[in-house]
Amino acid sequence: MTYDSSPAFAAQLDAQDPLAAFRQEFHIPPGPDWKPSAYFCGNSLGLQPKGVQGALEQVLADWARLGVEAHFDGSSPWMPFHETLTEATARLVGAKPLEVVVMNNLTVNLHLLMVTFYRPTATRYKILMEGGAFPSDQYAMESQARLHGLAPDDVIVELVPRPGEHTLRTEDIEAKIAELGDALATVLLGGVNYYTGQAFDMAAITRAGHAVGAMVGFDLAHAAGNLHLELHGWDVDFACWCSYKYLNSGPGGTSGVYVHERFAHRPDLVRLAGWWGHDPANRFQMKKGFQPMAGAGGWQLSNAQIFPMAIHRVSLDMVDRAGGMATLRRKSEQLTGYLEFLINELRLPKSKLEIITPTDPAQRGCQLSLLVHERGRELFDFLAAQGIIADWREPNVIRLAPVPLYNSFEDVHRAGMALRQFFK
Ligand SMILES: *Cc1c(COP(=O)(O)O)cnc(C)c1O
Repeated sequence: MTYDSSPAFAAQLDAQDPLAAFRQEFHIPPGPDWKPSAYFCGNSLGLQPKGVQGALEQVLADWARLGVEAHFDGSSPWMPFHETLTEATARLVGAKPLEVVVMNNLTVNLHLLMVTFYRPTATRYKILMEGGAFPSDQYAMESQARLHGLAPDDVIVELVPRPGEHTLRTEDIEAKIAELGDALATVLLGGVNYYTGQAFDMAAITRAGHAVGAMVGFDLAHAAGNLHLELHGWDVDFACWCSYKYLNSGPGGTSGVYVHERFAHRPDLVRLAGWWGHDPANRFQMKKGFQPMAGAGGWQLSNAQIFPMAIHRVSLDMVDRAGGMATLRRKSEQLTGYLEFLINELRLPKSKLEIITPTDPAQRGCQLSLLVHERGRELFDFLAAQGIIADWREPNVIRLAPVPLYNSFEDVHRAGMALRQFFK
């Protein structure tokens, strides 16, 4: 697509946008002038779908009217509530229904999966991560090493960009995996790096990991609801993600888990167990002896969190109504490409501002990360004063994530014009 920087061009793209109506289904926080802000923080906390309130009120009403009976009765009985999320979740990440479950929170799920998929031996005990991974993932991996009596520094190998570069090259990731070889137990990368916005080639990384006999998993916090994922097709072993970023399911919202079907019928796998992962056929016999249910559901611990799941169902339904990730992704590439165009139009020297996110759309999602070498914090505050909600990461990165469900091309144009004004 060829872009231009006139306001008419943005208006025309909005008029032609088949997803434009979804914007009306969100609460958009007002800016300082009480007009809707241009909200680019969907990578941190997605906006509230208007349908959430009714969904929560329904759960409250069922609880009020039925008490414990709402597990079996009412508008959407709680007993199978989590199962109503399965099909849409499978579509979201390109998996089979048996391979996914919604439960807990992200870091909790990362631990539960690592208990199963990081089984170090005397010789095969390394974990490969991104250097500067999201802190929760770093702490999780450190503590997983210690759980096995190992020293984190000895276990964790970090990938870092080449000198002078900001992102990783697939060939360098593959080479590191090959170099670690028989010593590599588990690869655990983000699907999209939270800082740079780089999307990794998950198929290639999985192939490389399997070639040396390692397990390969992804933290999809910044990928779920952002990229078109094919976890089963890529042969990924395990993955998990949160629902409150690109999936608009509210602060502290529930999390999704994927476990490849080759592990679906493996009750022998080491795991932490709870009653909700037990075979439902005899769960309520309350007998001794854990028998995991088949599939990802066999990693569940506790009975389902109905409130966050009720919110999440509203959000997953929107993704489906929008035509799924393939459709969302088409608009997303245009929005982000347009933002990139408007920034490049400013022709700023690299010494002032550079986009560290890859230019290749296949290597990024919505987000652009701007490395602002001078007056970064001032720029961030300038944007905020104009109702442009970005996100600031120390020491000097501004992240902007236009998302296809509620951001308009006009939002992006506003951001571009504000940047122009600042650097004038
Ligand atoms: C957002 C994010 C988290 C947050 O974890 P929670 O358990 O949901 O608090 C963890 N890891 C990554 C990569 C993230 O982007």
